[in-house]
Amino acid sequence: MGRIPQHFIDELIARADIVEIIGGRVQLKKAGREYKACCPFHNEKTPSFWVSPDKQFYHCFGCGKHGTVLGFLMDHDHMAFPEAVEELATRLGLEVPHEGGDAGPKRAEEPLYDLMKQVAQHFVENLARDARAKDYVARRGLTRETLERFQIGYASNSWNEVLRRFGGSEAARKALTDTGLIIERERGQVRDGERHYDRFRDRLMFPIRDSRGRVIAFGGRIIDQGEPKYLNSPETVLFHKGRELYGLFETRRARTSLTRLLIVEGYMDAVRLHQSGIDYAVATLGTATTPEHLRRLFRLVPSIVFAFDGDRAGRAAAWRALQQALPEAREGREIRFLFLPDGHDPDSLVGEEGREAFEARLTTALPLSEYLVRELTREAELSHADGRARFAEAARPLFLKIPEGVYRELLLERLAEVVGLSPERLGQLWVPGAAAPAPESALPPRRPAARASVGSGRGSLVRQAIVRLVHFPQIAVEVSEGEREGIEASEEPGAALLRELLDDLRLHPAHVPAQVVQRFADREGGDALQKLLEREEVLTDAPGAAGELRGALLKLAEQAAGRRLEALEAKSRSAALSGSELEEFQRLMSKLRTRNARSG
Ligand SMILES: [Zn+2]
Repeated sequence: MGRIPQHFIDELIARADIVEIIGGRVQLKKAGREYKACCPFHNEKTPSFWVSPDKQFYHCFGCGKHGTVLGFLMDHDHMAFPEAVEELATRLGLEVPHEGGDAGPKRAEEPLYDLMKQVAQHFVENLARDARAKDYVARRGLTRETLERFQIGYASNSWNEVLRRFGGSEAARKALTDTGLIIERERGQVRDGERHYDRFRDRLMFPIRDSRGRVIAFGGRIIDQGEPKYLNSPETVLFHKGRELYGLFETRRARTSLTRLLIVEGYMDAVRLHQSGIDYAVATLGTATTPEHLRRLFRLVPSIVFAFDGDRAGRAAAWRALQQALPEAREGREIRFLFLPDGHDPDSLVGEEGREAFEARLTTALPLSEYLVRELTREAELSHADGRARFAEAARPLFLKIPEGVYRELLLERLAEVVGLSPERLGQLWVPGAAAPAPESALPPRRPAARASVGSGRGSLVRQAIVRLVHFPQIAVEVSEGEREGIEASEEPGAALLRELLDDLRLHPAHVPAQVVQRFADREGGDALQKLLEREEVLTDAPGAAGELRGALLKLAEQAAGRRLEALEAKSRSAALSGSELEEFQRLMSKLRTRNARSG
């Protein structure tokens, strides 16, 4: 997919109503020209979260979170940038344009998404018609609301229903094959003149949707008896098992704020949990949880609980999940393991003991570190040195999968306790070559963070100019070519940022401060702009600011010219100036003279 053009992002930020978007998620109170609330990003009792409709900006004085409406959607709703853009555009009824998107591979997939949607609808209609399927659904206790929410359907007991209905042409059959809905027979196996047959037959169908709600695959559960019990779409251009999770779209749609996700083994479990009010359950799709799954989920929530059956198969699956989870374990992330009592699935447990008790189980489920220790100690006799050595041996490769950091240190302490060594000693044994921590004095002196400085003092000319540009970006277009050129040679701190800002805003005019900050978010100096915008400045209106900006630019130009003159003068005392230098010297002299004449 092509890049989203900057002008479109600017337009979104200008047109979106930040108060409405944030107000829909946080209880805002009007306070003068702004709005305040208790911050959704940190725990507080007195409001320090401010939303400024003028600046199209929010800021929390408690935890420092701040940004534009796009930033808010990304931080609060855990959306990726393109999703946040999509969300705002949809609200405003705009189509997101993509630069050079026409030739992009995504376009080629559009018809496949369309096909999946139609097939999903077809399955839904089948279910409404088929008495046996309806009976099965009723026996499983699925309500009509749940069927609708998850768009659950039924694939008939037929070898060619989907093929006949959607495979009318060679191209259509190719699309069906590409999406995994039909399977091509081996040569010589052609039956009744048909080279293909339906993949899903006599199954309850669970559409798997991506983060935008598009159907990308199906999971099918056999009705009554048959093998395999669960059958999923194969990997296709639309569907990557290691990335997608069943129920994630529905979870995000059900909840505006998420703190925890529950990962279960099957889609039926996930669906029934949602129905029982645990509407943050997701399921992997015929694969163990992958690190990619976890990375995705940890972008959404700080806490993940795995639920497994207490039987042997469940324990084996849990151990695989643990191994996958280790590389993603770190401070600030919580990973827990819940083992269900014998004879229970997650849903039956909620049904028996109620939602609150079930959620209490989630909160107190085994943390990853304890689960690791528990499983390893099952194998080793810890009362003997031999047993402890075996434990250490088994734990080492697992420990090493965890990225370095606080979490790993804490786990090392826990493991050292079991082994009966000091954490330092165990660390040395496990990570040979890792030196003991250096004493404080041996560390390199802490360097100040490198950052584009915006002027040396509060009142520097560069700073004055930038402040006005950030608050009134529309005035950039009033700066003439000559005025812009005057600061080309300026070496004041922050001058480079000022030039970049001016050039950018002259070429792509912006109208609200948030546009500027968003544009510069990833560039050097972006932080500094952000800070400037947050500080209350005593500023006049836009026309006043334009005059002040031009005044500051003029003075900067003079300063730069003066310094250049000095340099040329100094050089002329020791060597002859070149022709162009001489020319420059004369030009600068005459400029200064006219200025002195004007001001004198
Ligand atoms: Zn905060």
